[in-house]
Amino acid sequence: MRAWRGSLAHVVTACVLVSACSGGDRMPAVSSADGDEVAEAGEPEPGSPTLWDPYFPTLGNGGYDVDNYELSLSYEPGSGNLEGDARISAAATQDLSSFSLDFSGLDVSEVTVDGEEAEYRDEGAKLFITPSDALAGGDEFEVVVTYSGTPQLTSSESDVEGLGWYVLEDVGSFVLAEPEGAHTWFPCNDHPSDKATVSVTLEVPDGFEVAGNGELVGEGDDGGSRSWSWRSDEVIATYLVAPSVGNYEIERIEQGDEPFLRNFVPPEVADQGVGDLEVTARMITEFEEVFGPYPFGEYGIVVVPEYLGTAMENQTMSLVGIEAATEPDELLLAHELAHQWFGNSVSLEVWSDIWLNEGPATYAEYLWEEATTPGFDVDDAMASLHAEIGGDTPPGDPGASEMFGESVYYRGALTLHALRRTIGDEDFFRLLQTWTDRYRYSNATTEDFISAAGEVSGVDLGDFFDAWLYQDEMPELP
Ligand SMILES: [Zn+2]
Repeated sequence: MRAWRGSLAHVVTACVLVSACSGGDRMPAVSSADGDEVAEAGEPEPGSPTLWDPYFPTLGNGGYDVDNYELSLSYEPGSGNLEGDARISAAATQDLSSFSLDFSGLDVSEVTVDGEEAEYRDEGAKLFITPSDALAGGDEFEVVVTYSGTPQLTSSESDVEGLGWYVLEDVGSFVLAEPEGAHTWFPCNDHPSDKATVSVTLEVPDGFEVAGNGELVGEGDDGGSRSWSWRSDEVIATYLVAPSVGNYEIERIEQGDEPFLRNFVPPEVADQGVGDLEVTARMITEFEEVFGPYPFGEYGIVVVPEYLGTAMENQTMSLVGIEAATEPDELLLAHELAHQWFGNSVSLEVWSDIWLNEGPATYAEYLWEEATTPGFDVDDAMASLHAEIGGDTPPGDPGASEMFGESVYYRGALTLHALRRTIGDEDFFRLLQTWTDRYRYSNATTEDFISAAGEVSGVDLGDFFDAWLYQDEMPELP
């Protein structure tokens, strides 16, 4: 995400902000080794209704890993009604008597597990499911949730308000879900540590297009409506799954073995060159030099016909507002593209490591300028940034309410520049490529990054990272 400039709920028209967060005190007791509800040996137990994320303790669910989501939905832009089913393939990681999914704001009419009707109940932002037969650890199983309703935005413990599926009345819709908005429109294990492949088929009335993640694998005419099927063969974190519905012109460039580039742009700004695909192709080539191979088969942007004041790196289809056309910002596009390596392919294990996403994406803006702007001096630019932010707020564990604050972005980028000047260009860029290769399509932590930096450079960087990431006073640049 690009630095936040005010609450979306106040700038996007026709949206509804409803607090749908469940309080932790509404959670059922969790069986645990030191609790008093320990099941007898061998008896299936409920899956944990949390993954214990330090910032979002109500998010995520334990006892299983999701392999694939197959969403078959229809959307009515006039009423905002979204309905259909989510088919979730998962593997049990323990013997399960019941389990939960994150889901809020929509009405569930049926749940099946392996084709058998299952008991379910909505509680807060959780859907608790009890299959007719307990699941054995290691078993693969399939859950189908049938649901309908108008998606309601959720508030967040983070400094972002209004997350989820934005209803733009007759204009269409879009999704902005980082960190915890995905479960406002599909039932899921809503945490980046459980990534899965995803297919989304969305039926919309004629005259609307659907931009999605990955490859457009099918378009079908259903007589008055049209179905758009998108497929992500590479795993994707739930918050990055984001179909956009609207009236779009589609721009495409085929480039042989290179990523297939496509933009979805409102007709009224289609001649303004927003997200110029020739520039995007050059940016990908440049970033491949420093970050390693582009991790996905496609890339592009969707331009929402509303002022957003932010942008979001949804996997292979970054989301920008109409201001990207009226106030072009190439660095914003560089930032969102860089997230495809940092955040999307290599994802967070816990949200408290958010600087691992935003630090590199912000530094990528400077790398793009360094590569393309004659006379640009990256040391001067970083020194100016250092003086400007003067920030004595460390980025390493900023707290949920500051996770999209200045320090995470700018001191995060300064940390990387200081590292580059400490270990030298060769080791620094080798580290970035080791990182994107080792944790490609996976998850990693700050500890993993510090360890990889030490390994690549042969330098003990413990004190360096402690000072830059965790101590109040910002160190001087080397
Ligand atoms: Zn960002």
